[in-house]
Amino acid sequence: MNNNDWMQRDLKHLWHPCTQMQDHETLPVVPIQRGAGVWLQDFEGKRYLDAVSSWWVNLFGHANPRINAALKDQLDTLEHVILAGFTHEPIVTLSEKLVALAPPGLTRCFYGDNGSAAIEIALKMSLHFWRNTGKPEKTRFICLENGYHGETLGALAVTDIPLFSATYAPLLKEHLRAPSPDCSRRAEGESWEQHSRRQFAHMEALLAKHHAETCAVILEPLVQGAAGMKMYHPVYLTLLREACDRYGVHLIADEIAVGFGRTGTLFACEQAGITPDFLCLSKGLTAGYLPMSVVMTTETVYEAFYDRYETLKGFLHSHSYTGNALAARAALASLEIFESDNVLARNRELAEVMREALAPLAAHPNVLEVRQTGMIAAVELVQDKKTRAPFDWRERRGLRIFEHALAHGVLLRPIGNVVYFLPPYVITPDEIRFMVATAAAAIDAALAGNARAGGDNLAIP
Ligand SMILES: *Cc1c(COP(=O)(O)O)cnc(C)c1O
Repeated sequence: MNNNDWMQRDLKHLWHPCTQMQDHETLPVVPIQRGAGVWLQDFEGKRYLDAVSSWWVNLFGHANPRINAALKDQLDTLEHVILAGFTHEPIVTLSEKLVALAPPGLTRCFYGDNGSAAIEIALKMSLHFWRNTGKPEKTRFICLENGYHGETLGALAVTDIPLFSATYAPLLKEHLRAPSPDCSRRAEGESWEQHSRRQFAHMEALLAKHHAETCAVILEPLVQGAAGMKMYHPVYLTLLREACDRYGVHLIADEIAVGFGRTGTLFACEQAGITPDFLCLSKGLTAGYLPMSVVMTTETVYEAFYDRYETLKGFLHSHSYTGNALAARAALASLEIFESDNVLARNRELAEVMREALAPLAAHPNVLEVRQTGMIAAVELVQDKKTRAPFDWRERRGLRIFEHALAHGVLLRPIGNVVYFLPPYVITPDEIRFMVATAAAAIDAALAGNARAGGDNLAIP
């Protein structure tokens, strides 16, 4: 069976996520036979460097021997058990470790099985907390322009990416939106910190006006991922924590994408020195092995649900696979690697290699900016650097970049006009230079060649 055989069989019955399926009339589905480290290999032996960590989940490479060994052991011990009324070793140990590692004060772990579920849990818990404590009028949330929190209805309602949400507007509750602190829009000569402080004034105004009806502010700390790796300064989070306390509003930190070392610290909130009321974690939690998420919260929140007589004061939310033992064991194996290999220190060196490799691109006539926070880097393309005029999305330049890079052995997945790099932490300096050089060549090829005929379809994000 070669690539084409698998592709034909795939297209007969599969419906792929986040894809206009008609694209696959001309764009092949890539069947992957195996993975090792940062590399994926197809059925004809061609290798691809996974520069997006397979949708931001993989931390320590594909088929990591240490995580594999832990999972094989767990498989022969206990695969899964109901978590209501029962417990098991991996989930107890994982909860202890997460509490020790998370910002101080987050002492309770509630598990879900994907990122969107974690967001639903945090939203429901916040509203329910205010209900239990005599403030049922709090029913709204404040989110950020360009924010992304997942695809289920509650999460989509606090998401601000029309490509994903507009169609379903009739199903979505309307919340409040503050302008993004995105520093790519800062004025000439303005620092990231100045810009983030200035943008915070809008948030402060929204809180002043709406705090009585607001449960929580929800945002992605430091990097708004799905919007195209839009980045901002930690001071925004410091100011927000202080304001949320002042107005009696929760702070939900969605670290589903940025958690577990992506931004340079284990959790992004650390860079602002804050503890959110809810910390949502998922993508890197199991190092990219198995679906799992967790919402960490405070003893104050937990206690508002603790009641001898009233069942309904309890949090009656559940998912069948909550606290899955295999996923918990993978998460533990991942945290052991963080500890034993001094991963955050090595990541600082790798981030520096990325910075150096990407620096020359800043002078490119079609590059608006190169930005980076820790192990997340992005190159934003524009048609005209002076006017900042973007490329027409119908030209689908991003798709051409994807195709060109793939043909040359790198899996990139541009978001609109943003080419980003979010590689597994086991990447080597040489592999970083190969990844960036291939991306640079793909950018030039896409800009030089004709635009890809896009018809009326939306570009793949
Ligand atoms: C991916 C993501 C989610 C949703 O997680 P899923 O597991 O895809 O449901 C939520 N928030 C952020 C910031 C994400 O990047």
